Amino acid sequence: MFNSLSDRLTATFKNLRGKGRLTEADIDATVREIRRALLDADVAVPVVRAFTAAVKERALGLEVSQALNPGQQVVKIVNEELVGILGGETRRIRLAKNPPTVIMLAGLQGAGKTTLAGKLSKWLKGQGHSPLLVACDLQRPNAVRQLQVNGERAGVPVYAPHPGVSSEFESATGDPVAVARQGVAEARARLHDVVIVDTAGRLGVDAELMQQAADIRAAISPDEVLFVIDAMIGQDAVNTALAFNEGVDFTGVVLTKLDGDARGGAALSVASVTGKPVMFASTGEGLNDFELFHPDRMASRILD
Ligand code: GDP
Repeated sequence: MFNSLSDRLTATFKNLRGKGRLTEADIDATVREIRRALLDADVAVPVVRAFTAAVKERALGLEVSQALNPGQQVVKIVNEELVGILGGETRRIRLAKNPPTVIMLAGLQGAGKTTLAGKLSKWLKGQGHSPLLVACDLQRPNAVRQLQVNGERAGVPVYAPHPGVSSEFESATGDPVAVARQGVAEARARLHDVVIVDTAGRLGVDAELMQQAADIRAAISPDEVLFVIDAMIGQDAVNTALAFNEGVDFTGVVLTKLDGDARGGAALSVASVTGKPVMFASTGEGLNDFELFHPDRMASRILD
């Protein structure tokens, strides 16, 4: 019937134009529609609750205007609130005053970190930077190799930990914290202006993983710590994000697998509970399937 929340709300208020102030009953009906739309978009339940309460408060104060019908006015409020939570403006990478800019990636296994490392390095290279990738995911047997393959595709060198694994550089240690430190030193020595450090993930949040990530963070003092999260994670987004926020105090979020069915609710959940901005969106397995995150576009995706 109605494809989007905007359509549904506009229809709900079809007969209310010029009525003066909206009644609480009108608003409650609307808030129910909004709640349903957000849950359909996989926004976490506590986030939906807080969000609808904020919208209700603003909607109660609305004067019905002649120019916009009440449905359109409420859609406007919802849109503004969504964009606000998602960080408002598109947030760009903060470059270090003294290069190299150090970017650390963290997240669960399978979130898309290693893929993202390749994409981000290619994107930065395209902007005239000279990135170095550092392979600190020593948990997953194939992760170092996978990063090297991505590096080759992106035309970006990879600092890898095992001397047996082909690499431009030499390193003799299997300790991820030491590898991270050496990788950053290598970047500095070889005048790379950006260094991207891929770290290990596990299937679930665990204390050992978090300690390792925290140790790497402490060792390399990154300018950005990007928390990589699969948009399909749904209701688990909140707990995962809170655990990583506490563990590594990330500075930004990258949402992956937005090419799938996910409507982007995870973006809202993570941004809402951590207050950290979503910075990039990953939209496929290819190295070019990657873009800056635009809060306004995501708001439309959640609402449509
Ligand atoms: P990591 O364990 O966090 O390093 O995750 P990987 O980078 O190995 O990615 C896990 C899987 O997800 C791989 O099969 C990737 O090709 C795939 N993947 C990563 N990002 C995306 C994305 O944006 N869209 C899709 N469809 N697949 C992705």
